[in-house]
Amino acid sequence: MLIFATESSCDETSICLMKDKKILEHKTFSQEIHKIHGGVVPELASRAHLEKIQTMTENLFNKTNIEPNKIDAFTATCGPGLIGSLLVGSTFTKSLAISFQKPFIPVNHLEGHILSTSFNNDIKFPSLILLLTGGHTQVYLMEDERKIELLGQSVDDAIGEAFDKTAKLLGLSYPGGAEIEREAMDGDEDKFILPKPLVNEKNFNFSFSGIKTHINLLTKKNKVNKKFIKDLSASFQKSITELLIKKIARGLERLKLEKKDIRSISVVGGVSNNKYMKNKIENYFFNKNIEIYYPLKEMMIDNAAMIAWACIKFYNKEKNDLFFKPKPRLSVRSIL
Ligand code: ZN
Repeated sequence: MLIFATESSCDETSICLMKDKKILEHKTFSQEIHKIHGGVVPELASRAHLEKIQTMTENLFNKTNIEPNKIDAFTATCGPGLIGSLLVGSTFTKSLAISFQKPFIPVNHLEGHILSTSFNNDIKFPSLILLLTGGHTQVYLMEDERKIELLGQSVDDAIGEAFDKTAKLLGLSYPGGAEIEREAMDGDEDKFILPKPLVNEKNFNFSFSGIKTHINLLTKKNKVNKKFIKDLSASFQKSITELLIKKIARGLERLKLEKKDIRSISVVGGVSNNKYMKNKIENYFFNKNIEIYYPLKEMMIDNAAMIAWACIKFYNKEKNDLFFKPKPRLSVRSIL
């Protein structure tokens, strides 16, 4: 099965040509324009998608020498996300489907992330999915490939947002995740004690906004110099990682009481790029009989390969829906 996919839910313009389980070509462009604003500006994001998507697609077909009429189905992210951005990608992809008279399959962005580790791993079930992005912090239980249940989520900011907002308070650039990780490398991670909201609750709900408020106070009380930035970045990274691990551990205890013995954990989304966090999670679960999976590097941030893969994995021609309206809010299992 040959699939052409696009992803444009936020500030990455991405396109992919996938044949069965092989990525033939995959290009992701991260929009630079938002850097000066310290966060994504929706209107600018839509325009930037519009400027890129057509040329990227032309280049992709030229490079691979594949005729668009050989494509079996066209697919695009149809939510959740910024509505203007979703409209650019989905309308562009729908028009290709119409012109080559092929099916158009709408895909849920979150399902793309959730299924991303099954591209390069044989998942052991039941499995826990930690979706850690700039827009979402969610934990899902996958009892088998088709049974996905949301167990908990952040009640306020997403984890990636906490990284971005902390970076902004420290005068670091956007996106904040990589900046914080770099600054933290030679900082003292025990310098500041930060709050760990909801840490003792045996559920999978998170709260990150209190941490941001605390950091804001620290930046007002202290001199924001290089040392302060490094120490606070390190303390923040340590605190948020410990919070995440403790919450998972407590949540797993609860699941065990319900006779759900988790055999694997998939850490998906852009935040899974953080090497410090990865090491800590791996160390914690080492020898606990739980496997830890990550997506391929190119499938961590928002990307079209995960959308193509979600389409291929559960392909059903009855899902062909040219009239599907993209939705800024879309929960999992509402399409697939
Ligand atoms: Zn995403």
